[in-house]
Amino acid sequence: MSTGPTQTADILIVGGGIAGAGAAFELAASASVVVLERESQCGYHSTGRSAASFTENYGGTVIRRLAIASRTFLENPPPGFSAYPLLTPRGMITVARQDQLELLELELEHAQVLVPSITRIDAAAALARVPILRPDYVAGAFMEPHSKELDVHGLHQGFLRGAKARGARIVVNAEVQSIERRDRLWWVRTPAGTFCAVTLINAAGAWADPVAELAGVRPLGLIPKRRTAFNVPVPGDLDIRAWPMINDVGEQFYFKPDAGQLFVSPADATPSAPVDAHAEDIDVATGVERLERATTLNVQRISRAWAGLRTFAADAAPVVGRDDGVDEFVWLAGQGGYGIKTSPALSRACASLITSRRLPDDLIRLGVAAAELAPGRLHERAANCYYSSNNADILT
Ligand SMILES: Cc1cc2nc3c(=O)[nH]c(=O)nc-3n(C[C@H](O)[C@H](O)[C@H](O)COP(=O)(O)OP(=O)(O)OC[C@H]3O[C@@H](n4cnc5c(N)ncnc54)[C@H](O)[C@@H]3O)c2cc1C
Repeated sequence: MSTGPTQTADILIVGGGIAGAGAAFELAASASVVVLERESQCGYHSTGRSAASFTENYGGTVIRRLAIASRTFLENPPPGFSAYPLLTPRGMITVARQDQLELLELELEHAQVLVPSITRIDAAAALARVPILRPDYVAGAFMEPHSKELDVHGLHQGFLRGAKARGARIVVNAEVQSIERRDRLWWVRTPAGTFCAVTLINAAGAWADPVAELAGVRPLGLIPKRRTAFNVPVPGDLDIRAWPMINDVGEQFYFKPDAGQLFVSPADATPSAPVDAHAEDIDVATGVERLERATTLNVQRISRAWAGLRTFAADAAPVVGRDDGVDEFVWLAGQGGYGIKTSPALSRACASLITSRRLPDDLIRLGVAAAELAPGRLHERAANCYYSSNNADILT
């Protein structure tokens, strides 16, 4: 273990996933920043395991607004940010069985409030786009034409590279093991040395509550939920490259092209301890069964299966802002299944709440309120329902 002299900064960020990387990128423009990442690579956990989808029609209203607010950055990142476009065409078709048509109507009405380009298409049009869909399965559909494929690696690396160019230090193999508040400063011990700063940002993903507990900050009752994904080969005569993503209106499965194969998820959301998540056979089997029910595919082989954690607050909105009990402790957590597509807006929100104690104007204009992101909204709920890192179960 290296000790060495204490390294100082204005801001320490715990976690080098998309959240920590984005915050570092924004804050390094005006402050000295150190990112502390436990693993040997920053994208090892949720950030490296996502479906890489940009949609403005998934998640609650605040999430949808944050995704809309992120589009400009993703379409036009700063010069030199990424060698390739971060967004490429994909489109998303939400399908419904006969027994789900009422739900489809409700979802369509809700979707069009914020995304008027979403339109109903008939089952034949859905089948024409994705010919493996079963005609006796799909009874109705709607299409989000501007949903995109997101280059997660490009975005994450762009944030990290840009943060470094602005002077930030990214320290890997640096698990935060203890956090002390002394002389109005945070003192943080890791195997890579001791660090000291005025402000601490908790961007630890599934570990955000345990990291808060290390700092003596009341946890928020964040719950990591496991989601499984797997790849299946498709018959060689199918050209799937231009297929849109197919999403079940009841959120029971989704699939899309992924490097010549299909990416499939049973859209599971199993509460989990904060761990290095792995795919369970039963969840993969559920995904195969749902895929085969909706399509003509007969799955012979799974080429790769994995799982990641999507971490939620009780109201499923992200948590961004200063803790209301402990000074200079800032939360950037609870991004659920939406943390990549919303990362440009959430990074700016976090930076702005630290530097000027208000949200950026464009987010306010879109109807996002600081109070609906603030950690304080969850403290009351957390008193009754939280995952304790010392406990094997979800306490409710
Ligand atoms: C299957 C799946 C599909 C998804 N699809 C999408 C999608 O299509 N679009 C979308 O926008 N989002 C999607 N998501 C959600 C998205 O991946 C997450 O919201 C996002 O990655 C969360 O980023 P994060 O930086 O908060 O967490 P992470 O990437 O998990 O980063 C947190 C980091 O903190 C580090 N850490 C924890 N404790 C410590 C400590 N004590 N010391 C130092 N470091 C520590 C961890 O090692 C980790 O690297 C999906 C997620 C999954 C699992």
